[in-house]
Amino acid sequence: MANVNQPIYILPEDTQRFLGRDAQRMNILAGKVLAETIRTTLGPKGMDKMLTDNLDDIVITNDGATILQEMDIAHPAAKMIVEIAKKQESVVGDGTTTAVIIAGELLAKAEELLDEGIHSSTIILGYRDALSKVYEILNHISIDAKDKETLLKVAMTAITGKGFDYGKKQLANLIVDGVLKIEENGKVDKDNLNIQRVSGGSIDDSKIINGVLIDKGRAVDSMPKKVENAKIALLKYPIELKDLESDGKIKIKDPSQIQAFIDNEEEMIKDLVNKVIDSGANVLFSQKGIDDLALHYLSKAGIFAIKRVKKSDIKRLEKATGAKLVTSVDDLNPRNLGEAGVVYEKKIFDEILTFVEESKNPKASSIILRGSTKYVTSKVERALDDGIGVVSATLEDGKVVIGGGSSEIEIAQQLKKYASAISGREQLAIEAYGKALEVVPKTLAENAGLDSIDILVDLRAAHDKSKCMGLNIFEGKIIDMKEAGIIEPQRIKKQAIQSATEVTEMILRIDDLVAAKGGLEEAGADDGLDNSGMPPGGMPGGMPPMM
Ligand code: ADP
Ligand code: MG
Repeated sequence: MANVNQPIYILPEDTQRFLGRDAQRMNILAGKVLAETIRTTLGPKGMDKMLTDNLDDIVITNDGATILQEMDIAHPAAKMIVEIAKKQESVVGDGTTTAVIIAGELLAKAEELLDEGIHSSTIILGYRDALSKVYEILNHISIDAKDKETLLKVAMTAITGKGFDYGKKQLANLIVDGVLKIEENGKVDKDNLNIQRVSGGSIDDSKIINGVLIDKGRAVDSMPKKVENAKIALLKYPIELKDLESDGKIKIKDPSQIQAFIDNEEEMIKDLVNKVIDSGANVLFSQKGIDDLALHYLSKAGIFAIKRVKKSDIKRLEKATGAKLVTSVDDLNPRNLGEAGVVYEKKIFDEILTFVEESKNPKASSIILRGSTKYVTSKVERALDDGIGVVSATLEDGKVVIGGGSSEIEIAQQLKKYASAISGREQLAIEAYGKALEVVPKTLAENAGLDSIDILVDLRAAHDKSKCMGLNIFEGKIIDMKEAGIIEPQRIKKQAIQSATEVTEMILRIDDLVAAKGGLEEAGADDGLDNSGMPPGGMPGGMPPMM
């Protein structure tokens, strides 16, 4: 008979487990730390972070999504917050920092309420109620607009302070033109707008191309450099004799057999190339490889060919030229070829590119992004990406809100009024929720070196009179942000607030944290994520946990 006092292990002995408030506290802390880490990057006066990976690749950025992606977060609750940043990136393409710092602040406020003895389910109820009120308020304070001037302002707001002021206006124009070009029936498929970075030259050498751009030139120099009235074949299958090379075992008894074998191989390649020629194609883009011998025959037939074209480029080519990607050369025929007025190769600075222009469906365009160095172009590309996101969202929804902390303050003010009409403890949660949203103007002020308490007081007072007031961080003054043209798509705010609320709710619901051996240590729970509120590795010399 077993001893009744003997402990029973249902989890491995070295599993770490935190229950109830401890679990909540740990998770909240992780979220707060994450928000704390990136809050200094918010707004045009935000600072940059320099990140390097184990391959010594350096990224310098103040883009929330990029930072979180490079940071390699391990704590489970922090990971959940990284997910909302990713969602924000995919739904809007901008506003990731905002989403994360709002989540951090909602968690911080929830913790205060928990400390006051309010149950997490009450907090969750209050937060949910507040969120549905936020939707209402947002609809109320949004402005219906999607004219070109609005789009330009939205683009400018998104790319301001991203590390280049020079060429900003021109870039905003490129973004708006690019997005307008790919818009179709009120929808924008951002995949149809390709950004091609070319280091060398300056930002204002950047330009837009009506068509598809491929970051390679023709496979061999003997091919034509330019093909007019292009008939384009897209191939998914390699034109190579892979099978024979890899596992063909051939017993050869005399030298004539070697020759026969080589001849045979040549015949097969020739046959494959002939099928391409017979289809009537004069341009071939292959997603896979093309044998040297095949390239020789293709070039002899005057065909412009590129091998190993990226899948995303193939997709754009399909869309723009009407070509169908085929899996075998046997499937090539005049019906699945695409068309373009011209396909040509051109060298820009030291980059060789292929242009596919004057296509049937011009709903594909490319931006050639120039900049002095790799760091500059990748920085500008991230800004461009944000700009494309917000301009697309504005064009699709036709609704904008006022930036510079203006809409957050307005929502907070209205929530405060709303809360006063609610009875019970839920009122406290709704009030706290409103206060949490003020983290946006507060952080914008802090990052601009301004006194955030004074600014918040002034902003609240200004909003009693006009709901367009926001913080001009360059002058440290409260001004009418609508007049200043600082506007953002409504979707950015809606998505950020919604997902921040959802992740907060999820985190508050967890009352049991079970971690396999080493799981949380790796996540920094033992050193970085103690009560100090410092990010992992943020403390010099690794101070002992203050638990
Ligand atoms: P996110 O990753 O959340 O987009 P950003 O660093 O791009 O973070 O900062 C966005 C915030 O900066 C928004 O709240 C926006 O309203 C604000 N903002 C943008 N331009 C200005 C400006 N000229 N003055 C004040 N605030 C601005
Ligand atoms: Mg932004």
